[in-house]
Amino acid sequence: MKFNIAIDGPSAAGKSTIADLLAERLGYNHLDTGAMYRAVAYKAMNSGIALDDEDKIVEMIGNMDLQMKIDGSVILDGNDVSEAIRTNEVSMGASDVSKLQGCREALVAMQQKICAEGGYILDGRDIGTVVLKDAPVKIFMVASAEARAERRVLQNQEKGIEADYESILEDIKKRDYQDTHREHSPLRKAEDAVEVDTSDLSIEEVVHRVLEIIEEKTGDKK
Ligand code: C5P
Repeated sequence: MKFNIAIDGPSAAGKSTIADLLAERLGYNHLDTGAMYRAVAYKAMNSGIALDDEDKIVEMIGNMDLQMKIDGSVILDGNDVSEAIRTNEVSMGASDVSKLQGCREALVAMQQKICAEGGYILDGRDIGTVVLKDAPVKIFMVASAEARAERRVLQNQEKGIEADYESILEDIKKRDYQDTHREHSPLRKAEDAVEVDTSDLSIEEVVHRVLEIIEEKTGDKK
């Protein structure tokens, strides 16, 4: 039987990359929940809705068509916004809208519905603590802010997106602060989550470590 796997941690700790590789290895699907907060912020920013206007944002979510495709693409109202939601501006906007309880409730409900049948790896900030409280495997992935900024610079360069180390580092620190200090579902490690520090590990080493944790927790050799 396929279960669900929760991966949480601060921005740019490598959650998405690892979740993609694990999904491929295990024959699971990856749901990038951060992309959903990004899509909300992107639409609000393009609709002239203030990012702290909870009522308008909740109403907007109710009317928007958000499709999270199995291949990772994000389709918002019929348009592929997968790349457009990756800018620094949208990252900060996502951190802003994610403070709103109404926004969180709407997105958490969508996420729980998507993975109701099992076989999903969800990555985000509140997966182990809120979205998948009963997941048998919970990973809390961390890395130093500097290591994360360096990785994000490389990732952006590969994608042809503007990448300035200092401003990316500053944004990462600011988002860490916002994500850990917000009132609703702040980023924190679930009691039953296993921490993996990825600062000095290669991608393959992290995948290996997570597969070990899955085996330890479920007795299921992968
Ligand atoms: O993971 P990513 O960096 O794409 O997420 C963008 C923002 O969305 C985060 O900084 C965080 O504020 C918010 N988020 C959240 N809960 C999640 C996923 C993302 O609050 N489950």
